Amino acid sequence: MDQDESYEERPDRRDGSQDPWTYVGSCPRCGSGLARVRLCGVATRQMHGLVVCDECEAIWLNPDLEKPPIYSRSEVAQSPRTGESIWDPPNRWATLEDIGLLGWFDRIVIESDDD
Ligand SMILES: [Zn+2]
Repeated sequence: MDQDESYEERPDRRDGSQDPWTYVGSCPRCGSGLARVRLCGVATRQMHGLVVCDECEAIWLNPDLEKPPIYSRSEVAQSPRTGESIWDPPNRWATLEDIGLLGWFDRIVIESDDD
């Protein structure tokens, strides 16, 4: 089966930063993806955090994965808040600092990069 084309444009998971790998938990919908914090509204100064599954693109407005997620109706996953593509830069996977500002720091798992 062919890979979904939209996946090719997915930014590198580390975004070139040295930040540790963070996630909220495994996705309760598809079971194979990780729900991670995505920072959106960066270009328009309407910064907000979303929790997004990196596999099925389920979206939560906050790190409460027990709530039903939102699925974007368009081909490209859009922020339910601003309607922009969540994947377009400068939107990015949230850094630890971003997550702290969102007040979600105690909701995430931080994987240290010790080899
Ligand atoms: Zn998923």
